[in-house]
Amino acid sequence: MRITNPATGLVIAEVAADNLKTVRAKYELARAAQPKWSAVPIKKRLAILSKFRELLIERQEKLARTLTAEVGKPIRQSRNELKGLTARIDFFLAETERALREEKVFADPAGKLEERIAHIPLGVIANISAWNYPYFVGGNVFVPALAAGNAVLYKPSELATLTGQHIAELVHEAGVPRDVFIAVIGDGATGAALLRQPVDGVFFTGSYRTGAKIAASTGRRMIKTQLELGGKDPIYVCEDVDVKAAAAAVADGAFYNTGQSCCSVERVYVHEQIYDAFVAAFVAEVKSYKVGDPQDEATYVGAITRKPQLAVLKAQVADAKRKGAKLLLGGHVLRAKGNWYAPTVLADVDHSMLVMRDESFGPIIGLQAVADDEAAIDLMNDSEYGLTAGVYSASEKRAKRILSKVNAGSVYWNCCDRVSPRLPWSGVKHSGIGLTLSTYGIQTFTRPKAWHLRDA
Ligand code: NAD
Repeated sequence: MRITNPATGLVIAEVAADNLKTVRAKYELARAAQPKWSAVPIKKRLAILSKFRELLIERQEKLARTLTAEVGKPIRQSRNELKGLTARIDFFLAETERALREEKVFADPAGKLEERIAHIPLGVIANISAWNYPYFVGGNVFVPALAAGNAVLYKPSELATLTGQHIAELVHEAGVPRDVFIAVIGDGATGAALLRQPVDGVFFTGSYRTGAKIAASTGRRMIKTQLELGGKDPIYVCEDVDVKAAAAAVADGAFYNTGQSCCSVERVYVHEQIYDAFVAAFVAEVKSYKVGDPQDEATYVGAITRKPQLAVLKAQVADAKRKGAKLLLGGHVLRAKGNWYAPTVLADVDHSMLVMRDESFGPIIGLQAVADDEAAIDLMNDSEYGLTAGVYSASEKRAKRILSKVNAGSVYWNCCDRVSPRLPWSGVKHSGIGLTLSTYGIQTFTRPKAWHLRDA
């Protein structure tokens, strides 16, 4: 398998991919090893994961450079991702023992009957991952899954293979046995081969299209299946905000990671009283972003990781222009070599346009004026997706009233594009099913076993 740098179009590595036979062998190793791993005391498992955290810090620069080379993420943002993962590991290290402790939920006064809940690891799980935040979306799964006593077959995205290999090396160096955490290397066909194994759970991060295929294939097998999928995340800006500050914050939410985040801001609704001022401030902000070599410290917008996405971006912009949107910035491919698209701002968009309906997953955004809060609520809910949604307003009460009516997994007042290890990360509708992070995102790698204990 060839690994290409999306910023240059040059091949930077070649790696051997797994096939059905090698995937099967890896599965069997993991199956045999899992009982031993779950018998390791939890404190010892956590100490090993703490060592993994230390290694991430120690090797940060090398890991960040590799990530930037293979996905085109600006180098500062690669470092931020690594720092973010260590903060998430801190949460798991602090909370896992408590989250997985066996609970006594009932004892009758005569001492004859007791009821308890135990948290049992699922067994061998498949962790199929996306490329856009490989440390985050991988770590959200394999860190708590390993902590809970599971064996993990980890398939990084084919577009983040080198990072996936680094992760496996570090996990092993930290002390997780080689047959308890195993990287499965390859593309969608390899992912499909992995799902043909009798695993006990599937934890997938990726597109709705692939997620729906996976749900159909695992549904008949009655195994736990979690799908963390795409988004078309809206922001509504009320007329009572500081326009310049709100424009800067929302633009950052739309263009950080070159717009390739599951929770990137993808739709912006602005109260008509401040619409013109907001649009002007937004465009000025986006113009200030440095686009260029992702290895350069000053770069804020990098390359488009998946080449086919360029066609999606072009089609969305052409469709919006044809239907009457105003192109205020960008709207074109940038360079001949590598995958580059100019930061693009479309104003006066509406919901007949693809740019307000389909996930863009790139540096383009549509801005639409709305008359009042009720219109904003209707538009925010008018989507197949429901990952995150946010409101910028001076009034917490107003924002909460609006957000309580918006159907999304996470809601934000005066912030966006934000994930916290303490809060569950989940979506509704086509954004997926299940969750990671928070104490629920530790327990999700176990099944509750109910103990009824009667002393005859
Ligand atoms: P993708 O669906 O193309 O691929 C995801 C993974 O699935 C890859 O590892 C791929 O090799 C594998 N795969 C592909 N076909 C498969 C099959 N038939 N069987 C098994 N595995 C298969 O998605 P992507 O381009 O890597 O990621 C981008 C998408 O992920 C976006 O839609 C984004 O919003 C979403 N995402 C969601 C979250 C979240 O937390 N909700 C986080 C990050 C990314």
